[in-house]
Order: sequence, then C-alpha cells, then structure tokens
Amino acid sequence: MSKEALLKVNNLKKHFSMGKGQTLKAVDDVSFHIKQGETFGIVGESGCGKSTAGRTIIGLYNRTEGEVLYDGKNVHNMTEKERFAFHRKMQMIFQDPYASLNPRSTVQEIISEPMEVHGLYPNKKERLERVYQLLEDVGLNRDHANRYPHEFSGGQRQRIGIARALALDPEFIIADEPISALDVSVQAQVVNLLKGLQKKKGLTYLFIAHDLSMVKHISDRIGVMYLGNLVELTTSENLYKNPLHPYTQALLSAIPIPDPDVEDHRERVILEGELPSPMNPPSGCVFRTRCPYAMEACASMKPEWQEIEKDHFVACHLYNEKVTGDHNRPQVAAAK
Ligand code: SF4
Repeated sequence: MSKEALLKVNNLKKHFSMGKGQTLKAVDDVSFHIKQGETFGIVGESGCGKSTAGRTIIGLYNRTEGEVLYDGKNVHNMTEKERFAFHRKMQMIFQDPYASLNPRSTVQEIISEPMEVHGLYPNKKERLERVYQLLEDVGLNRDHANRYPHEFSGGQRQRIGIARALALDPEFIIADEPISALDVSVQAQVVNLLKGLQKKKGLTYLFIAHDLSMVKHISDRIGVMYLGNLVELTTSENLYKNPLHPYTQALLSAIPIPDPDVEDHRERVILEGELPSPMNPPSGCVFRTRCPYAMEACASMKPEWQEIEKDHFVACHLYNEKVTGDHNRPQVAAAK
C-alpha cells in the first residue's frame, strides 16, 4: 500500500548573504518527499548543505525560495499558533548531545521543559511519571532523572536528547547527524534504538549523515547531496547495489568491504580535492572539479534530474544520451 507523503520539499533554496555582494548557496533547488512512517536519509560531506536543509525544513531558517509542505501546510507561512502546533509534531535531534543539553539542568528538567512550554502534563507527578516513561523508552532508567548531563557517556547523552525530542509525542523527527559524535561501537546501538522507537511510536524520520555506512541500516530511501544539490535519490537497497552518480560511487568506495578478495579487487572511485566553496560553485555540474568522468559538457550544462529506472533519480550527463550518445556508465563494486 503506498502511503501519502507527509513532507514535501519543493525546489527548496536557502542562500545566505555574506556581505560585499557575495551569496552562500547552502541549499540550491532541492526537491524530495517523505512518506508517513518512512526513514529518508540525506548523505553528503560536511558543508554540502544537508544540515541547513534540515534546519530550513523545521523552520529554524526561513527559506530563500521554494516550499516545504508538512501535511499539506506550508511551514514557512504558518501563523504563530500553527507554528506552535507544528513544533509539537516535528522535533529535532542534534549531532552533539553535550552541546544541546543544558549542563546546569538535571535530566528531569531537560526532558520536562518542552512539556512545560506546551502546557502538557500540568500535574507535576504525572509529568515526572512521563519523564520516567521516556527514560525507559530510550533505554535509561528513572534513577537517571536527577543526574546532570556530564555524568553520562556520549551514547547516554544522545539517549537523553532523544527522550527530550520525544517528550511532545511528535510524528516526525529530523535527526541531524545523531551518531557522528559517538564511538563506532555505540553508533549501532543508537541506530537500533531509533529504529525500535519508530516501530513502537509510528515515527517518520529525516536522517542526516555524512557517510553511507550506517545510513543504510535505517533508511528506506536515501538522497545524496553535494554542494547544495541532490545528485542521486533512490531506495537504500538500490543505492548500494547500483550507485549511478560518480559522487555516490566515491562515497561507497570509501566504505571497507569485509571480504578481503572483493576489497582487493574492486574498482574504486577516489575523490580528490576539497569540496569547492558554496559561495563560488563550479559552473555546469557542481561535482565536475572532482569527477573522474568529467566531460566538456559538464562545465557548461547543469545536468538534468532524471528518473533512470523506477524510483531512481540522478543528475549526471553520463546518463543522458542527448549528451553522451550512449550510456557510458562507470561501475564500482557494491558495498555489502
Ligand atoms: Fe561527472 Fe559530468 Fe556527471 Fe557531473 S555531470 S557527475 S562532472 S560526469
């Protein structure tokens, strides 16, 4: 059964004026939708605009152009009352759980605060019970309620951040690199926790990450972002089996394959050079300065966003017969 799109992002742009006539194009014409109950991953290097996209979607930043529709309502044209109600429905989990938790507040105060702001559980005893329940939901216990953030490990602090995000019983969570600051051993635990909570509470996620290794385990579909643009979008399975864009292939090449024979013999796409400045992006295809397959047309023409196979979109001239004359598709071994 196909589900309705809960979130629609249409041609979203977020540009920042940097003075002296310069503009930073953090998000430059990005479109996608997220269905109810789905996890949509956005992946890309630091500085590609993925976190800015997340913050613009939740309304922390106003948009420059385009629209964000949540359940049919334009997020950036809401009345104050509508925005207040919207913030109950959509919550955010941040990358650095330590920086996002007030060090002078107890865990109980941190988790209670959004409930107080929204007038939920006005009875103190009931609110405390709710805090205990949320702590249990995220794998902590009631004894943790009176402690301070510094008394916890990074993984536990992220669990507290998740409990706070759940305090208002939201429908949709934007998880902005929620595991990037954690030890590898803890990352899988937090991903599993998020998956379990999704199942239990029927949540929809936008999961933002800088590498493809862990995103695979949580996302239904993944969008790959480069310098403010989406360059590829498809199901998680398809992206790993059949990556089309050279940038996606390079990201997948960076993930080690635990089979030495495959690892030794697979063809790699190595990314060279730094991410160009979003204040001065390359002409044509924004990836051309690092792309091993760049052609003349890549400097003069922006590649079209095309559906190459069902639910598999890519922006690259290699897949446009009008430009190449044939499908000169570069191949890499899929990551396991
Ligand atoms: Fe590389 Fe050209 Fe494709 Fe861009 S359009 S990814 S430069 S081949």
